[in-house]
Amino acid sequence: MLESISTFYHSLNAVGRTTMITTPILLLAVVVLLVLERRIPYRKGLPFFREGLFVDLFWYTLVQSYFLQIVIFGFIIAPLAAHFGTRFNLVSSWPVAAQVGFFVVTHDFYIYWFHRFQHNSAFFWRTHEAHHSGKQVDWLAGSRSHIMEIVINQTIEFAPIILLGANPIVVPIKALIDAVWGMYIHANIDVKSGKLQYVINGPEMHLWHHADHEEVYYANFSTKFAVWDWLFGTAFLPENRKPERWGLPYAFPKDYFAQHAFSVYRFDEKALAERSAPFRYYHGVRWRVLDWVGRRLPAAKVLQGWEVTQGADETVPAPRPGGNPTAKAAAATPDSSRPVATVAS
Ligand SMILES: [Zn+2]
Ligand SMILES: [Zn+2]
Repeated sequence: MLESISTFYHSLNAVGRTTMITTPILLLAVVVLLVLERRIPYRKGLPFFREGLFVDLFWYTLVQSYFLQIVIFGFIIAPLAAHFGTRFNLVSSWPVAAQVGFFVVTHDFYIYWFHRFQHNSAFFWRTHEAHHSGKQVDWLAGSRSHIMEIVINQTIEFAPIILLGANPIVVPIKALIDAVWGMYIHANIDVKSGKLQYVINGPEMHLWHHADHEEVYYANFSTKFAVWDWLFGTAFLPENRKPERWGLPYAFPKDYFAQHAFSVYRFDEKALAERSAPFRYYHGVRWRVLDWVGRRLPAAKVLQGWEVTQGADETVPAPRPGGNPTAKAAAATPDSSRPVATVAS
């Protein structure tokens, strides 16, 4: 057994070998985060089988990322790399660790500004609201990202790695760092990182970003390094207070395809299901499948998730948190010295 694993490992190229190492680390990180979510929850009583888990796990994490990886690497980055060749090889002589560090920091700086832009542009908010739609935020909630958001951000993330001549193993290493950090900042863990929260971002600030409180509609845009929020005046970290309302202040479709359609055309998913028989049939497929499985395998009944009542049944359209150009943007004065900053007034 061990010998066949070893033979398989040595038959792989460098990227394949790296993936053989990064994948178990990713799975281990999932286990650690799940244990911490049970041991020190940020919100007590949040179930593992929460509302939307199936959509996030099956559609966003497995299906969407599989297809988008093909689109981004095969149809965008590969032609770019073929066109530009080795013209911009800037980092090829650097050690791999320096390459990883360089791309982690520069991409995180970019993502802070693009994320902030998405909250301030009516058009681009449509590519980001899905990410804010979940009311039960946990380790997997961050996977819910609109197709366009992923295409834009991952092209800008991975194209420079290839075009600047980085070692190809930087791609799976960076993907692992993204996945683990992304799960961590959304995890329902009561982290108190103290002064470290000025630099390293975690659930302490990012869970507030997912709250439905006006004071955070334009705050806590950082992903990996919270220092951007503190530096550019968008940090929000109240002491001894946790959000009471979560997600969006308006109804958002629960189905994966309806979520994408909603970004182009506003409609009421519930009303449409009542009106249209074909949509009602399609909309009910997941429930019928889960019900069928649940009846045969009672343990799987929990897959249907918990119903969320809080704010989930309000109808569209309602004012959305981001993208209102007339709303006051977060204060731009850098003030990293204050331990607690409230900005979006
Ligand atoms: Zn956001
Ligand atoms: Zn998030």
